[in-house]
Amino acid sequence: MSKAHVIAIDGPSGSGKSTVAKQLAFELGLLYIDTGSMFRGLAYSTDANNIAMESGPQLIEFLNTCNLEYGKSKDELISIKGKNLTHIIREHHVSKLASIISQLPEVRNYLLDFQRNLVVKNLCVMEGRDIGTVVFPDAFCKIFITASVDIRANRRLKQLKEQGNEDVTLEQVIADVKKRDDSDINRTVAPLKQADDALLLDTSDLNLDQILEKLKTIVSDKALQTGINL
Ligand code: C5P
Repeated sequence: MSKAHVIAIDGPSGSGKSTVAKQLAFELGLLYIDTGSMFRGLAYSTDANNIAMESGPQLIEFLNTCNLEYGKSKDELISIKGKNLTHIIREHHVSKLASIISQLPEVRNYLLDFQRNLVVKNLCVMEGRDIGTVVFPDAFCKIFITASVDIRANRRLKQLKEQGNEDVTLEQVIADVKKRDDSDINRTVAPLKQADDALLLDTSDLNLDQILEKLKTIVSDKALQTGINL
């Protein structure tokens, strides 16, 4: 059976997967697709347009007319209804909204089609929660990246402080990380889960260079096994 030309990288928030997935794509010269940014964009935009975050005709109408665009340029990763949301979707409150909207089947179905259509024949690195299980179950390489809650919360806190969110405390971030894990793992549709054939990479004791090295080895082994030219 031919495999999808996708390196599927899944895992919980703060596992370090975004940074390494982006770097991996850059080093291999591949398209990088950050699916979390799509949930964030839709969450931000529904909220800003006073669309209720619940299943129903109002949400469907919004999805049908939102004109989501991904990766138009380096500075325009996500735009909706012509508005560039690339930076605003990284704000702390948007993470919570994204976690809520990602529970809705209409949103997941909409993004499932969108994500599959982005990948036509080029190799890519796609990162999210359900890439190896739902979006591309036939991806040639699947990696599930994780780390302990404390490590992930500390990484997230550092990131938030760098973005100017000085008032956030470690306790708040730990609580947020646990809450997001809980809703990602326990949602009915496309929950966060390691695919049976995904390799597990625990990054708790690894720095970014070490994670990247391990990823590159996994990817080249898989490419060899499946006859895919990187
Ligand atoms: O990866 P990131 O933290 O930007 O994702 C934001 C939120 O979007 C996650 O907390 C998760 O609830 C949701 N998400 C998802 N499925 C994906 C990617 C993200 O449910 N493939």
